[in-house]
Amino acid sequence: MEKDCIFCNIVAGKTETEFLYQDDMLVVFRDINPHAPVHLLIVPKKHIRSINDLTEADQPILSEMLMVAKDMAAEHGIAQSGYRLFINVERGGGQVIFHLHLHLIGGFR
Ligand code: AMP
Ligand code: ZN
Repeated sequence: MEKDCIFCNIVAGKTETEFLYQDDMLVVFRDINPHAPVHLLIVPKKHIRSINDLTEADQPILSEMLMVAKDMAAEHGIAQSGYRLFINVERGGGQVIFHLHLHLIGGFR
């Protein structure tokens, strides 16, 4: 855990953020500034700075992120209508929070 990392603090339960799902590897919560009716963040508990910092050992986390994203899409009723999954990488890729996270957005009209 990085003490100045906002997502580490959320993962550690130090904020009011409501978890929609959690397991031993990750948590899911709503994006504070949603870009669609459903905008969730799938966030590993481990502090991984960005996709560029992944190691082989992180592979189970990555697959869990995708499996949970699929399940959360179904749970929020957007599996069939469709959704986007994306990861911003480094500043030029739009990354603002340097703790790996997968965006799940959908429910567009
Ligand atoms: P990124 O540009 O991929 O780094 O996205 C960071 C995302 O985190 C943005 O969509 C923010 O709206 C979101 N965010 C920042 N702070 C919080 C927070 N405290 N709780 C929930 N979402 C947050
Ligand atoms: Zn962190």
